[in-house]
Amino acid sequence: MLDYVPYIHLIEVYNEKYLYDVNTNGIIHISDEIYDFLKNLISKISITGEQIEKEYDGLSEECKSDIDLLIKNGFLCDKNENIIFRHPETDRLEEFYKTNLNMMTLQVTQNCNLRCKYCVYSGSYVNRTHMNKRMSAETAFAAVKFFYDHSLNSDSVTIGFYGGEPLLEYELIKKCVAYAEEIFAGKKLSFNMTSNATLLTEDSIKFLAEHDFNLTISLDGPANIQNKNRIFAGSNRGTYETVMEKLELVKKIYPAFMKKISFNAVIDLKQDVSCTSEFFMSYDLVKEIGVSGNYVDVNNLKEPGQDDVPPEFYANSNYEVFKVYLNSCTNLLKGYNASLYNFHIASLHNQMAERNVYNRRNSCYDCPGGQCLPGIQRLFVNVDGRMFPCERVNEASDILCIGNIQDGFDIKKAKNLLNVAKISEEECKKCWCYKLCELCCGKAENNGELDKGKRLSFCKTSRYSIEENIKNYITLKKYGCRTV
Ligand code: SF4
Ligand code: SF4
Repeated sequence: MLDYVPYIHLIEVYNEKYLYDVNTNGIIHISDEIYDFLKNLISKISITGEQIEKEYDGLSEECKSDIDLLIKNGFLCDKNENIIFRHPETDRLEEFYKTNLNMMTLQVTQNCNLRCKYCVYSGSYVNRTHMNKRMSAETAFAAVKFFYDHSLNSDSVTIGFYGGEPLLEYELIKKCVAYAEEIFAGKKLSFNMTSNATLLTEDSIKFLAEHDFNLTISLDGPANIQNKNRIFAGSNRGTYETVMEKLELVKKIYPAFMKKISFNAVIDLKQDVSCTSEFFMSYDLVKEIGVSGNYVDVNNLKEPGQDDVPPEFYANSNYEVFKVYLNSCTNLLKGYNASLYNFHIASLHNQMAERNVYNRRNSCYDCPGGQCLPGIQRLFVNVDGRMFPCERVNEASDILCIGNIQDGFDIKKAKNLLNVAKISEEECKKCWCYKLCELCCGKAENNGELDKGKRLSFCKTSRYSIEENIKNYITLKKYGCRTV
């Protein structure tokens, strides 16, 4: 029996009807009759229990029995008005920091030999510009030791090298690797580096290969795409030819290391993505190498006009995403393999397939999704030894700094970031997709503060993308997707 308004969001995909149950995070296929009944209920501004009961009584027996079964299994509950937002791991965060770190990324330099136009340090963004600051050996060693001391419970650990361009500090990296291999002896230790590849030499390729590095190379696409944005500092010369020469060099002297390389391609929103996608799929030197695309960061751009997007960009990129989806469900696309847009499948998997469906009805605490445990899965240490949740957040902002390697974690600040949703609690509690929300502290930072207005400025896009993801997930599952 239903005599209240359940907390749900209704979804229609190709004439099939579904409900997203907000309390449990579950998605349920429902009949047209239940859909129409629920749609009518939630569309009313005010309705009494008696009126709902009357409408329920008018339903078919089959429909009533389906609704009762859903209620019996914990779905279709009403909204819990007493919920307080508090991340469930808040009290354990300090304990996690003592021994559970998994990955540390060292910003060995803020300097770079390129001036990529969309780089957060390029001068196109507020707050950050290229600096010549380098990490001292003392800071780097202290960070590695700090990581060792705080990862005793982790079976495998990873140290990443990041910049600027990390290969500008190749000598420091070698020393860090030797020190880490010494102190982490007996534990599974791996390394990674994100580099523009232009400074690779025979010696550094050999070093990276022999120490089992995973190397992520920044490559956006064919010459016209790469050379448009990724240019050398001081000369405006494009980097495509140099990156290709370096890849040829790896292939020649350490062919096995090609398997440890992947590409990170920034998709600027004004390019012909079909051309870029085709390049990664069919150009000989790169087609065997995995690529992960990500859209250019328009957050914090100085000139808002820079994010104007031509309509054909959406048409082209939607077509590329369509092909990725089609390929994940069928064998229709012969020879289709790695694609710039595979990240859509990966993020759909993380957000939808990996989500928890649970009933925390009896708990008064809950919180929106989107925020990681700051620093646990990935900890970013900048040139000065200051710690941040990851390399993607603005390291110029003090509010996002969760401590430093000399004094350790600032638990109060870390808890504050973990519970960033507190700043918009009132709005988020009314939001049907709060459990699937993708917004973390990085999207709330504004001029050194966690800013409610800034966070809420992303809501429309976030809700739209969540609704699309739910629909895509349903469709892919229905048509036998192998990866979601
Ligand atoms: S982007 Fe946000 S959620 Fe992701 S790792 Fe960084 S701080 Fe955590
Ligand atoms: S989309 Fe906006 S209102 Fe909804 S949970 Fe996320 S931040 Fe809150």
